[in-house]
Amino acid sequence: MHPTVELVQIDERTGRGLRATQLISQGTIVWARDELDLTVSPERLSQLDDDYREILRTWAYLDERGDYVLCWDNGRFVNHSCNANVFNPGFEFEIAVRDILPGEQITNDYCSLNLEYTFACACGLPECRGTIQLADLTTLAPHWDRQVTEAYRKLHSGPQPLWKYVRDKDAAESAWSALSLQPSASLRPYQRLAGKLFGELLADSVTGSGVSEH
Ligand SMILES: [Zn+2]
Repeated sequence: MHPTVELVQIDERTGRGLRATQLISQGTIVWARDELDLTVSPERLSQLDDDYREILRTWAYLDERGDYVLCWDNGRFVNHSCNANVFNPGFEFEIAVRDILPGEQITNDYCSLNLEYTFACACGLPECRGTIQLADLTTLAPHWDRQVTEAYRKLHSGPQPLWKYVRDKDAAESAWSALSLQPSASLRPYQRLAGKLFGELLADSVTGSGVSEH
């Protein structure tokens, strides 16, 4: 997790969450999957007690391969918001899609994380969708893609303390280079991030020129 993010008590309803202690500029990597994060395959999960399933449902997310990823650091405390400020550009890290001000909570949209269940959101924002469900990915992905693509163009505009943890730097770099060469291109990460699990949801929903089809 980015070093200027702290774990705090948000309020009684939300519980704990993460807050920026300093300005985090658009395009900054806020979280990166690293070598200490725990990966639990569906096969392994089937051998575990229900208690573990509940822990993973609460604290982990599903990656594009269908494995659960349980963050060892404060990454697991990122709360959902219907106007999230970090998203995954498709390379196992999340970036700030806009400037995050000191004191602002770090949030992502659980619908972007291969959500397996539906839940009632109480983020309280005017744009709150109320019920959060994976099916919304079809309408949300193009909007997120625009945000992520704009932010990703700034990948090399400022300090990136988490860059050293990025696992596939070549893929991340080549996507950034392609965006630099093609002003109208977009990253379109969600078709891939929904992957084997839910990729068909997005088959017809995202159009335009992508740069990271690998
Ligand atoms: Zn909401």
